[in-house]
Amino acid sequence: MTNRGKTKITRSAANAGQTTRGAVANKRAKHDNTSNCPEQVSGDASETSLLRAEVESLRGALEEERRMNKLLISQNTSTYYASPLATLQHPRCSTIPVHGSPAQHCAEIITQAEQLDFKPRLNTSSYVNVVSEPEERDVMLLGLQVNIADQTVYPASFALHNNVVNMVASLWNCPRPDDFEEYGCYAGAGTVGSTEACLLAGLALKLRWMAWYARNLDVSHKDVRALQPNIVISTLFQAAWEKLFKYMGVEPKFISPKLDSPFISGKEVADACDEKTIGVVCIMGNHYGGHYDPVWEVDSALKGLNERMGWQIGIHVDAASGGFIAPFQPELPAWDFRLESVLSISASGHKFGASCIGTGWLVLRQRKDLGEHIAISVSYLGGKADSYTLNFSRPASGIYVQYYKFLRLGMSGYQALCDNMMANAKVIRDALSAMTHSSGRPRFQILDAGDTCCLPVVAARLNPELHLPYDDIDLQHALAEAHW
Ligand SMILES: *Cc1c(COP(=O)(O)O)cnc(C)c1O
Repeated sequence: MTNRGKTKITRSAANAGQTTRGAVANKRAKHDNTSNCPEQVSGDASETSLLRAEVESLRGALEEERRMNKLLISQNTSTYYASPLATLQHPRCSTIPVHGSPAQHCAEIITQAEQLDFKPRLNTSSYVNVVSEPEERDVMLLGLQVNIADQTVYPASFALHNNVVNMVASLWNCPRPDDFEEYGCYAGAGTVGSTEACLLAGLALKLRWMAWYARNLDVSHKDVRALQPNIVISTLFQAAWEKLFKYMGVEPKFISPKLDSPFISGKEVADACDEKTIGVVCIMGNHYGGHYDPVWEVDSALKGLNERMGWQIGIHVDAASGGFIAPFQPELPAWDFRLESVLSISASGHKFGASCIGTGWLVLRQRKDLGEHIAISVSYLGGKADSYTLNFSRPASGIYVQYYKFLRLGMSGYQALCDNMMANAKVIRDALSAMTHSSGRPRFQILDAGDTCCLPVVAARLNPELHLPYDDIDLQHALAEAHW
């Protein structure tokens, strides 16, 4: 860099010398009155202004060169804070900078932005895992450079993906499909998060319903397309489902649970279904209080209904949070693929899956009349694979880290995590329950599902019977002052 700069400056100085000589010659010509030739005078004058302009532009170039050199030298040798970059207003810049900067300085600018975030470990309401081990972070970085969309370049990483899908499918007791050997895996996919998994599941249900409707009611596919199908779901749905309603043209048929029973019932589901129902969503752990929708009850209600009406309505279990908790609660009735109506299950890896990278998992009961509706077949180097994701390109880090976590924790590790979290939730819940107001009445009303068969969460609100002069939001602000 310094050498290049030097050479340039030397060349510029040589140019400047030439120019000076030219200018002096010009001056002499101006004072030489012996020449009367008008052509020559005007020729000299235009030459003068040309040379002046050249001097100006060279002076400007030299100045710019000096400035850049100063910038480059100081950037390369000094800390970010001693460099000219420290005086620039980065958050406001809306265009890509003209010149690059040293790696350390770029990282510093991003770190500064990140510092303005809250402390994720003190966030009490996100459901997102925020701790990681050094080796896990190494694996994460490795995966960041792998674009898992390309199965030809990364066949080993894709095999790893399939392996994780198989592990998740086994965890949820998915029956092994007949075509397992052909594909080497269950029908399923790693996704960006539960949202993508829910959208894919919803789409599979919609396309399955369209085929069924056309076949059974003898309607053309074109006419079926004009119909508005619906999906039965609790109003405690997570915003992911709003995307399905909007993006995929599926009308929600809501069941509104009550405060003291925040889950759907088999009867409510049966009453809500009709021949345009593509499926029923059971939420395994709503994000308000962590209650589970009773999938087992919905399963038997749907079996009866389908038998009576000749329908084939099935269930998608949105186990974003419960997917890696429910399998470790043996007191829970069967909630997964052991139930015949369960067609698909999704979960987030970054919630209780123990990964801190946004990841989702979708498992479909089978390819036939389900997975195949959303599968894009990709053939590569003589192999055959299905792609189930909404987009192709994505880093492999989420898959790598999920695999790392399965290997690292094992079933006993996940069991211990689940038990510890349930026990810790109980301590906090019991403490909140024991707190009283000066009137002797409980200070809090507990809103979560308690100690068993639910997510390890604590949800409470200030006891409304106390008619306090402050509300829950005030309490939250007070906690935030201590950075919670
Ligand atoms: C968190 C959550 C989602 C969305 O999950 P992402 O992984 O953030 O996309 C969907 N459904 C439920 C029940 C959730 O708790």
